[in-house]
Amino acid sequence: MRPPFPRSPVSRAALAHAALVALAAAGFALVAVGDGAVSTAELAAMAAFFALGAASAGLTLWMARGAERTANAAADAARRLADGEPIDFARFDGRAARDLADAFDRLSQTVRRDSDDLALERRLLEAVMETMSDGVIALDSQNTVRMINQAAQRLLMTDAAAARGRPLAEIERDFEMLQVASRSADTRRMQRAEIELLHPRRFFNVTATPLSGGVGQGGALLTLQDATDERRAQTTRREFVSNVSHELRSPLASVRAMVETLESGALDDREIALDFLRRIQDDIGRMTALADELLELSSLESGQMPLHLSPVDLREAAGAIVERFRLAAKEKGVDIKRGVSADAPRAMADPAKLDRILTNLLENALRFTPRGGRIEISVRARPRWVDVSVSDTGAGISKEHLPRVFERFFKADRSRSDGGTGLGLAIAKHLAQAHGGEIRAESAEGEGSVFTVTLKRAP
Ligand code: ADP
Repeated sequence: MRPPFPRSPVSRAALAHAALVALAAAGFALVAVGDGAVSTAELAAMAAFFALGAASAGLTLWMARGAERTANAAADAARRLADGEPIDFARFDGRAARDLADAFDRLSQTVRRDSDDLALERRLLEAVMETMSDGVIALDSQNTVRMINQAAQRLLMTDAAAARGRPLAEIERDFEMLQVASRSADTRRMQRAEIELLHPRRFFNVTATPLSGGVGQGGALLTLQDATDERRAQTTRREFVSNVSHELRSPLASVRAMVETLESGALDDREIALDFLRRIQDDIGRMTALADELLELSSLESGQMPLHLSPVDLREAAGAIVERFRLAAKEKGVDIKRGVSADAPRAMADPAKLDRILTNLLENALRFTPRGGRIEISVRARPRWVDVSVSDTGAGISKEHLPRVFERFFKADRSRSDGGTGLGLAIAKHLAQAHGGEIRAESAEGEGSVFTVTLKRAP
């Protein structure tokens, strides 16, 4: 609806102009009528005055309308520019208006270019953030999450929708992480910290960089680098060195004690001397086995052990191994048998490596099965795979220890001095994996164990 009075100052001036002309004309008429007679010349002058006044008021009003239209078109253009809509140039007419329209046109092009550039930079930044393997979190001065990339969502086990707009403390209740963010915002300096998070246990190298402006006053940019694998590797290395020295220390100490005893007189007692020499030989044998297995494991882990795959007749392979262990099993009073049917499928395997795996499994089975027990090698065919199992009715493995049996140097009972190095199953696992297969263990304590190697079936 049109307002009752023109809103623009120019329209108002035009109206005031018309009112003044009317007032002056009225005054002029009063003076002319006041002396009693109006001459023809006066009448003509009055008419001319009126006509001029009306024309000038009309002209002013017409110009005012034009200016008002231009101003309205400019206001509309500015609004559309702000809203990102196209400008309606049809609303501009007249030369000055066209100049204004040109200026708006240029302005709108500049704004569009700038906003396109900004949008592109934003997309680029987002793409970089999302492909980064390090987590990135932008915090405002209240430590509220403003931005969190995918890596950070994964590392902190959250998602962007849940994290954005919430205090960091609610997403990760780690005092040190909050501290490092606040310290960098307060000191306006980059801060670093090593942080350990629990459930599950993870390690992060955190860097907090102070943010200025933009995200409120203060705030910080946190980058999280996952150092869990690095820490695990360090721990494994440390444990490995301590395990190797532990495994070497006891046979070395025993050899030294026996040599000392021999030196201090036992050498003269032939029977004792021979017994000691046999035991020294056993210990040396154990250390040699450890050195050999360490070397084997190391070359397996570095992928330097090539496999020569060929179709292996599993019935034959199982039979050969059972024969090799028959005497030892008989001496121990353990029954050993091959439960492989004649139509058992062949496996794609390196015969020597498969023999090594099964030998390790049978050695263990024999070691942990008491007199009167039974050991069996069996084969089960699946569509593309074949399972070779070594089962025993021996000591079994507790639920607690079962997941760890394939770890290097793992021994459920460290006090046993039965010659095991704790590397046999780790080697078997590596060998099975090198074949593209796997190995797994099932066991019930006191009842026995089943170790199963899965290999590809030969075509
Ligand atoms: P080791 O040289 O000690 O046998 P392994 O890596 O072959 O080393 O085995 C690791 C541990 O797993 C053993 O010390 C034992 O505690 C457990 N284990 C392996 N096989 C058996 C089995 N058949 N019965 C019971 N325990 C077993």
